This record gives sequence, structure tokens and C-alpha cells, in this order.
Amino acid sequence: MTLDVEKVRRDFPILQTSVNGKKLVYLDSAATSQKPAAVIDTVTDFYTNRNANVARGLYSLAEDATLAYEQVRDKLCSFVNARKKEEIISVRSTTEAANVVMRGWGEKFIGKGDKIVTTVMEHHSNFVPWQQLARMRGAKFDMVDITNDGELDWNDLEKKMKGAKLFAVSAASNVVGTLNDTKKICALAHECGAVCVVDGAQTVPSMKTDVKSIDCDFLMFSGHKMLAPFGSGVLYGKEELLEKMDPFMYGSEMIRSVKKEKSEWNELPFKFESGTPDVAAFIGLGVAVDYLNGVGLDEIRKHEVELITHLLARLPSVDGLEVLGPKDAKKRAGLVAFVMDGIHPHDIAAMLDSDGICVRSGHHCAMPLHERLGVTASTRASVYMYNTEDEIDALVDSLQKVRKVFR
Ligand code: PMP
Repeated sequence: MTLDVEKVRRDFPILQTSVNGKKLVYLDSAATSQKPAAVIDTVTDFYTNRNANVARGLYSLAEDATLAYEQVRDKLCSFVNARKKEEIISVRSTTEAANVVMRGWGEKFIGKGDKIVTTVMEHHSNFVPWQQLARMRGAKFDMVDITNDGELDWNDLEKKMKGAKLFAVSAASNVVGTLNDTKKICALAHECGAVCVVDGAQTVPSMKTDVKSIDCDFLMFSGHKMLAPFGSGVLYGKEELLEKMDPFMYGSEMIRSVKKEKSEWNELPFKFESGTPDVAAFIGLGVAVDYLNGVGLDEIRKHEVELITHLLARLPSVDGLEVLGPKDAKKRAGLVAFVMDGIHPHDIAAMLDSDGICVRSGHHCAMPLHERLGVTASTRASVYMYNTEDEIDALVDSLQKVRKVFR
């Protein structure tokens, strides 16, 4: 079965709009995805008809909100194939998830002289928390290099993994797009006695993710990149690790009892959920998961690969354009970053904008990677289930115009 893009597009109100007098061509889903009407309507309906805080009130409205909230946890549990819903922590984003692990696990178990390793292709959110942790605890910090093709340098990885206590890696880079073999990396980490943290921000939205099969210790992802509202994110953690960890933030629902001398923490997953969450966003995430399951992740991924194949085939027709990362769409997430000689990415993005085309330009929160690639910034086009080949062609045509203007 192939994905019916036109049918999917009708579900996204923003895709029917125009920008700068031109039909909107949204090619920035790696930054955040657009939202289907079902998600938008759910948020509106929550505030219109169902608004109450969760895990507190004993009246029907509050109980219904709590039930709806907890049902999302169940959905997420099966979405990533976790063992139990207690392993699913509601957070605001991938960044917050990384900080929960850094504070909760890192500050407790990383000591002086321990080794923390990440990779040069990480987003700052899966780099800076570990760098900071190393600084705070007097630990060693290292990063695995990439090959000239933008893939992880496996020899370097094996070498640096030895003696590591924590290894953090993305399932896919948000710049070079490279898909990393997280299952193999987790197996090696465990052989070396390290805990493995996987950043799934760029893969969970379009690829089946099975935490049991990957055997990662932690998985982090952001709802807003997978059709859900901003402010909804997930930290998956193995139960035994979450049990041993300290909470990241203190107060509210994460507490079981408070005495002057000492307080006790609530059970999982609430131990990590302090303060009132973004209830409407999390309930919206549940609807997003239903939508993704309805379309089918395999279909979404297949569509993404087709679009990226087309994009990679067409981009070389633009004079002086260089694609960063692997040239095979199957080795990539649904995004392609590139540079054009003599033209700053911000100029490219501004000119594309005048054609109604949205792309991202800059360092994409991956400065070490750009430095390693020898460029200061890049332009990134990213696709999702609602993009079409015609939109890819519109991008390439617009890039040809950019080339002419800056010749
Ligand atoms: N990791 C990766 C690979 C990402 O692409 C992003 C978002 N660009 C993040 C982490 C951070 O996600 P958020 O801003 O939702 O915390």
C-alpha cells in the first residue's frame, strides 16, 4: 500500500495556506512537524470542554482528564514497545529528557575520572548536558568522530567506548541525516559496562522504534516533531535505572510524603513528573500517535525515502551545491543539509522564503559537527508524510534561481 499524500494533506489545515503570496511549501519538519486537524481540535476541545488538572481532583472532570492523560502513557508504551507504562516519563522535549537523565542518573552515578562519550554529530541537546556533567563531576568527556561520508567512525567508536560509563548517541543526525545502528551501539556499550542514551528526536516520528529490541537504557523524543503540540515529549528509561535515579525537579506530584526532616518520592513514573504538566499537549500527543499508527510508520518511512531519493538525485543539478552526509536515502532520516559555495545559508533561506518555501539555515544546534565538516552553517530541507515530489521540484527550481542571483 502506498501513502495517499493528497488525503493526508487535507488533514493539515496549514498546508492549505499561502505565504508571501505563494503556496506554502513546508520543508522544515525536522525542526517541528505541522499538526493535523485531529490534534488541533483535541487541544481546543480539551480547553473548551474538558479542562481540569490531572492527578489531583476527585470530581468527574478531573478524573476524566487524568484518565485521558494516562491513556496516552499506555499508547506511548506500546508505540515504542516499552515493558510497562511506568517506563514512560512525560517531559516537555528531548532536551528536557536529556537533562532529567543528566541530573537524575549522571549526578548520582558519574564520579571523578569516569568517562562520558558522545559523538561529534549530536544536536547540542545530546552533547552539552553530558559535557556539563563531565565538568561538574570531574569526569572525562570525549566524542566519537565521523568518516568523510558523514557516518560514525566505528573504529573510533570502539576505541572510545572502552572504559566509558555513559554513551550518548542520536538515532539520526539532524544535519547529516545519518542513521546510526543504535542496537549495535547499545550492545557494545553494555559489553563495556556503559549506560546507553539514545536521542530519537529525528527517527521516532517516522520509523518503528522498539526499545526492547534496541535495548537502549534511555530513549528521548519530542512530540512536536511527530504531529503533536509543543510541550509534549517523552523520556523512556529502563525501570531498574529509573528506580535508582534521583528526581530532576522537586515539588508537586513527584512527592509521596513531606516531613521537616525528609521527604519521600512518589512511585514511577510520577517521581520524575514534578509540577503541572502540559496536559492538553500530552493528550494531543496521544491523538498524534493514533494518527501515525493510522497512516502507518512503514508507509511514512517509505514515502520519506522516496522523497529524499528524489531530492538527492535533483540537488546536484544546482551549480556549486554540496550535500552533507550519506548520498543514499536509505541511510538517512528525512532531511538533507547542503552548502552552496559563495552563498550564505541565511541568504538561501531568505530567497526560498520569497517563493513560499520554508527551510532551516544556520548551525542547527550542531556546532561541533559543522566545525568537523569545515563549514560554519548549512541549509536544511526536511520532509514528512505530507510532502510531495512537486514540492521537492519547487525547492530545486528555487535554488537554481538563488544560484543565478548570486552568480
Ligand atoms: N536532538 C535532535 C537530533 C534534534 O533534531 C532536536 C531538535 N532539533 C533535539 C534533539 C532537541 O529537541 P527539542 O528542541 O524538542 O528539545
